[in-house]
Amino acid sequence: MSRPIRVLVCGGGIAGNAVALQLLRAGIDTTVVERAPAPRPGGQAVDLRGPSRKVAERMGLMPGIRKRQLHERGMVFIDERGRGRARMPAEMFGGEGFVAEIEIARGELNQVLLDEIAGLPAESGSLDYRYGEWVEDIDQDAETVKARFASGAAAEFDVVIGADGLNSALREKVFGPREQFVEYLGAYIGFFTIPTPPGTNVETGWVGVYPVPGSTVALRPDPDPATSMAIISTRIPADPALRGDLEAQQRLIRERLTGYGWVIPDILDAMPDAPDFYFDEVARVRMPHWSKGRVVMLGDAACCGSPMTGMGTALAIIGAYLLAGEIATTPTDLPRAFDRYEELLRPLVTTIQKGTETQVRLRHPETRRGVAIMHILIETLMSRPLSPLRALLTRLIGKQAEYPLPDYPAVEN
Ligand SMILES: Cc1cc2nc3c(=O)[nH]c(=O)nc-3n(C[C@H](O)[C@H](O)[C@H](O)COP(=O)(O)OP(=O)(O)OC[C@H]3O[C@@H](n4cnc5c(N)ncnc54)[C@H](O)[C@@H]3O)c2cc1C
Repeated sequence: MSRPIRVLVCGGGIAGNAVALQLLRAGIDTTVVERAPAPRPGGQAVDLRGPSRKVAERMGLMPGIRKRQLHERGMVFIDERGRGRARMPAEMFGGEGFVAEIEIARGELNQVLLDEIAGLPAESGSLDYRYGEWVEDIDQDAETVKARFASGAAAEFDVVIGADGLNSALREKVFGPREQFVEYLGAYIGFFTIPTPPGTNVETGWVGVYPVPGSTVALRPDPDPATSMAIISTRIPADPALRGDLEAQQRLIRERLTGYGWVIPDILDAMPDAPDFYFDEVARVRMPHWSKGRVVMLGDAACCGSPMTGMGTALAIIGAYLLAGEIATTPTDLPRAFDRYEELLRPLVTTIQKGTETQVRLRHPETRRGVAIMHILIETLMSRPLSPLRALLTRLIGKQAEYPLPDYPAVEN
């Protein structure tokens, strides 16, 4: 192929915007279609540690991230009587632990990526960014991929990247039904912003975590102390009727939490008015192969590890860096680029996805006694720096930090 390649990215979340930024930098013409009518705000704080932090540096995102980053001091576990118990400070594990040194809200990171795209120099690839648009039909042969969009428009591309999240429609059209790839891990999780309730009993900058039988509630401070992000996870069997039904989702949260203390009543009162209510399954995506012909999957659509891993955004930006880097390196040999991307990313995904169902169980003790034991275990972990549990966690975190990243001068800032 002698002409420059044209890429379609489905999904304008973290994965989609990160890959678009890198492709444009490499001079590749890129179309992004995002189903939502505007950038989607909201989402929990995301941690940038180890390789994802390195990628953010190489992508030139750090000045924007620094301006918008959260300043979290750590986590404090709250007991039945609303008292703070064990504390896990951010410095633990050298700033690379459960609360990382660099934390930024998901929506803010998305805005950093969009600002970076808007500021690209004229010699970059040309960008066609369409909100309220998605692929209705897709058809590929050896030469090209034809996409027909919801608006009725149609176009041809050399590569289509599926970055449309856990419930990817593109994956369904090209690779097969959702059930083949998405594995429910036993819990649901919701995130939403509320006015900071009085009486949280948590000092500024600390995330309060309140485990109750079957569920965990956390309150994460926003940069503006007037508001906080409520994070609620609850362990129940899968219920397909919850998908897309906001009323049923909020009813479930209410049923699971009514009667508990701390600031739960305030959270439940504020929930219906939250501007950014987000709720989904805690699920894992496992695809035997991430590409088929000219279509390649990225981010949650390809390899969601679930919010329990705290690594969804990290995998999205590392994957975006590798995929764009490989496409820019061998644009005339796309199968090779896709294979290299998969070869490089898969070991990290396998490490991150391991044992998530156990984590879900451990984080949601079913009984009051189980919750009391959890408090004791965390206190032990925090008070004994040399405990085997702490050594194990340090080793697990270290594994991600060691991940080697290739250099791609064509896509770096
Ligand atoms: C609004 C929002 C809030 C989130 N909050 C959290 C959170 O608090 N904690 C957490 O752990 N994870 C959260 N996530 C998921 C987290 O962003 C991802 O795990 C991670 O960043 C990987 O991102 P992704 O781009 O692969 O997927 P996503 O972030 O899910 O992005 C996918 C994008 O594709 C768009 N889309 C969906 N279908 C189509 C389609 N057919 N065509 C075109 N576009 C489509 C979506 O609107 C979305 O913008 C949230 C996601 C969203 C969209």
